[in-house]
Amino acid sequence: MIYQAFKDIKVSRLGMGNMRLPSLAGEKGKFPLDYSESARMIDAAIKGGVNYFDTAYVYQNGDSERCVGEAMKRYPRDSYYLATKFNYRANPDYKAVFAEQLERLQTDHIDFYLLHCMTERNIDSYLTCGCIEYFEQMKKEGKITYFGFSSHAQPETLRRFADAHDWDFAQIQMNYLDWEFGTTEEEYNILTERNIPVIVMESVRGGRLSSLTPQLDEELRKAQPTWSVSSWAFRWLMTHDNVLVMLSGMSTMDQVVDNLKTFEKDNALTKEQSDFLIDIAHRFKEGFTVPCTACRYCTPNCPMQLDIPSLLKVYNDYKYNRRWENNLKDVEEAKQPSNCVGCGSCKEHCPQNIDIPSYMAKLAKLNETGKEE
Ligand code: SF4
Ligand code: SF4
Repeated sequence: MIYQAFKDIKVSRLGMGNMRLPSLAGEKGKFPLDYSESARMIDAAIKGGVNYFDTAYVYQNGDSERCVGEAMKRYPRDSYYLATKFNYRANPDYKAVFAEQLERLQTDHIDFYLLHCMTERNIDSYLTCGCIEYFEQMKKEGKITYFGFSSHAQPETLRRFADAHDWDFAQIQMNYLDWEFGTTEEEYNILTERNIPVIVMESVRGGRLSSLTPQLDEELRKAQPTWSVSSWAFRWLMTHDNVLVMLSGMSTMDQVVDNLKTFEKDNALTKEQSDFLIDIAHRFKEGFTVPCTACRYCTPNCPMQLDIPSLLKVYNDYKYNRRWENNLKDVEEAKQPSNCVGCGSCKEHCPQNIDIPSYMAKLAKLNETGKEE
């Protein structure tokens, strides 16, 4: 296991995320959890040198904290670091939540404590509800060792939050796909400029970077026959000096074993390997998104005056994030894709040969049913 110095301790660069622990129902991340298999995985992680274990008040209906507490109490308390989080939206009573967490985790202190999932929607609640002052008090009393936050906010909001307090660390979503096509690079730089070490979540984007396409997976395997596809994502992360811990939400023993192998030694990608991976990322993204360049040649010819490139962007965002949550809510009724009459005149003017009417139909279906097919 490789380790990274932080303050006066050393943390394993691989952190075990406990939000998708195996369940007795056979479905990953569902309730009730399989305590004995989870403990077996935690034991293997500890044996392999992992000393950073991450959970949260809301993971798996609170069962993740209970399960981690049960598994970890069999080990000396000073042999590992526990990370957990306060989620304002789930329960704004931060004092009660913190007391409950200590009980669930069967401990008298939390090593890494985070405000959970800071976004544009909750930033003001976190800044004004009094929780920061309370958790700082807990720090003074030795019940919290390091205090930070996790963020799913846009860079400008992250900047505001990062400047609002003297944070020990922060957790952001970071992987080569979001770095190349999202705002991760800016977020990472905001934290690095402020000397705030980064804990990485979504290292393999919820498993999406564990298997790309059969052809791209094959290319990666050909380049490095002994590396798993997901290990490329971790090795890419290792090239970033301000990354402290890389979390992996493990659901199976196979994942634990594969991750431990990746972190046996410092195996950061070379510049050449990184370039190769980024080229793979571009081809991966091209494979599932519509290649609209927003040239707008199509729009003057639409009898319904639909804002076609904006609608295709909504579609691409959905394909990229694999989430449909009322994504067309900001589009006025008359400009909804369901108004497309299928005349095809847009298609004739598209230099990218995009079958626009079919994407309007897909969007209309998504808007109606939440499903594409
Ligand atoms: S096919 Fe639909 S989107 Fe294209 S021009 Fe006709 S109405 Fe507009
Ligand atoms: S013409 Fe094609 S590429 Fe250009 S904006 Fe319309 S859909 Fe996009």
